[in-house]
Amino acid sequence: MSESQRAKLVLKTLNKIYPKIKVPLKSRNVFTLLISVLLSAQCTDVNVNNVTKDIYPKYHKPKHFVKLGRKKIEKLIRRIGIFRIKAKSIYNLSKILVEKYNGKVPKTFKELEELPGVGHKTASVVMAQGFGHPAFPVDTHIHRLAQRWGLTNGKNVVQTEKDLKKLFPKKFWNNLHLQIIYYGRKHCKARECYGLTCKICSTCYPHRKKPIKTNKA
Ligand code: SF4
Repeated sequence: MSESQRAKLVLKTLNKIYPKIKVPLKSRNVFTLLISVLLSAQCTDVNVNNVTKDIYPKYHKPKHFVKLGRKKIEKLIRRIGIFRIKAKSIYNLSKILVEKYNGKVPKTFKELEELPGVGHKTASVVMAQGFGHPAFPVDTHIHRLAQRWGLTNGKNVVQTEKDLKKLFPKKFWNNLHLQIIYYGRKHCKARECYGLTCKICSTCYPHRKKPIKTNKA
């Protein structure tokens, strides 16, 4: 099976399993989405949602976080990993949004990636889920699955994003990145590969004998 045939099969299978996609991180607006994505680094979405459900009803605009200040933000998010660094980023980026963008989240990759604590992956999630702009945020799950399904050579996440963007039409990107994450969490976990028992691999790789290894992101 060629790479593009595998990509088509992946798309068809995932559309069947996940016809409707739910955004896993809860938010009230694009700003709180940005905060939730930032908080989700090295932390589960469930944990982030559990913490933010008590924050967003009261604090959901950049000016609210500027007023709170760093120490109070730290207190609010202390159940989340590396909370001091994240609190600093949230405070600093809120300040920039108030001072430079009139309290709005900018709509370009360049401006987003200039904000403290916001890398390309975070910016891509905000562009895709917040603004509906086609993007393909690649996290470690997507990186792992793309390698295992033979859709990239797995050098690094930058290369994986390029390869996936070439293989899949733009209109599918925003759903597909979530569909792959959902599939990975349930069927294709970091420490387990079942070799041939999964539908995608039993069709793409009928001659495979062993579970496969993955290069880390
Ligand atoms: S066999 Fe299953 S676990 Fe292994 S790469 Fe394929 S989908 Fe993932």
